Amino acid sequence: MENKDLKIELTKSIEEQITKMKKNTGDNTPIRSMDYFYEAAKNIYRINNIDSSTPVVGTFCNMIPEELILAVGAKPLRICGGFQGTIPISESILPQVYCPLIKSSVGFFMKNMLNDLNMLIVPTTCDGKKKAAEILAEKITTLIMEVPHTIESPQARELWLREVMILKRNLTSHLSKKITRKGLRQAIEKTNKKRALLRELYELRKKNPPILGADALLVTHMSFYSDLDSWITHTEALVNELKVKEAVREEPNLRVMLTGAPVILPTWKIPLLIEESGGLIVMDDLCSGAKMLLRNCEVRSWNMYDMLIGLADYYLMSGCPCFVPNNTRITRILNDIKDYQIDGVVYHNLSGCQLYGGEAWRVEKALKKQDIPVLRLETSYGEGDIKQLKIRVDAFIEMLEARKEV
Ligand code: SF4
Ligand code: SF4
Repeated sequence: MENKDLKIELTKSIEEQITKMKKNTGDNTPIRSMDYFYEAAKNIYRINNIDSSTPVVGTFCNMIPEELILAVGAKPLRICGGFQGTIPISESILPQVYCPLIKSSVGFFMKNMLNDLNMLIVPTTCDGKKKAAEILAEKITTLIMEVPHTIESPQARELWLREVMILKRNLTSHLSKKITRKGLRQAIEKTNKKRALLRELYELRKKNPPILGADALLVTHMSFYSDLDSWITHTEALVNELKVKEAVREEPNLRVMLTGAPVILPTWKIPLLIEESGGLIVMDDLCSGAKMLLRNCEVRSWNMYDMLIGLADYYLMSGCPCFVPNNTRITRILNDIKDYQIDGVVYHNLSGCQLYGGEAWRVEKALKKQDIPVLRLETSYGEGDIKQLKIRVDAFIEMLEARKEV
């Protein structure tokens, strides 16, 4: 398919998802501040509007300290792909069994749709990312960050701090710009402001949410793609609007947590299906959502070394299933279940993701102990399985309803 046609197809699928999101709000007064996020979503991979005055650094995953990219005067852009359209091209060089996220991302580069990025940073969190980094290095300057397999040893913390320091050095040398103490402090303060706003947004969902989960997830998701200043301005406006808005659903809500592999635009089918079935997503544990964003990056003092330690420690607590053991994630999920009064959990896995697939059993076991029902779904980016998914999601939501009535 020609690039022009791919871009049209991508925009069309994003617009379709947005239409469904709007439809799900039913008779509720539309949230005016959401318009910015719906519009921004249409340019998620910079497909329509490229501002070339600022260098852009592509990042795979939650483990990359965006503060260093901001401090060097560049724009971080998450390049995890969520688009089915770029998968067939990448399957000519990647095994079909790779997860769709990897195949979609590599496909974007093979179609030269992201090759104008200044550089790319990839963590060694899974085999797919490692091999993708090798392939993409032939197209674009690619930096690999070595991620330890555990967070529970002093050596792991040291290794990761060293990786963060190497990243700082490589960003400055590749982009020929400095990272100053003041610049890094401002970047950390700004990203903490983003996190504080998200905490406010999520706090509003603890009782009777004034916003659907698919919309709230879009707001969080766009923080990985939009210009940060503009995202902050519009999220402030959204939070203020929501503070005086009525609940989006009548009580009792069937309160769902969505966890598992990242949900990435334009593949919004899982959150949409849950809310079309009558569930209400009030919390997520997704790397494409709030998984890391509800706590601040803490810095002991504003000297360069302490800031780098603060960043390394913050990102090491990602709760990524590449860590063994990954108790951080399970503890966080259990705490959120209490705080957000969760009735049931949907565990989303992407076909080919061994990490999330392999960790599902431990998470389910921990949830069963607390008598929290779990629905495990495995899917990819196509729409072929949507009917089957719908049957399972409907049955799960009905079961939650029945439990609530008892
Ligand atoms: S699960 Fe999250 S932190 Fe781990 S590799 Fe995927 S995006 Fe990165
Ligand atoms: S979904 Fe799983 S396999 Fe795919 S990139 Fe993320 S961690 Fe790797």
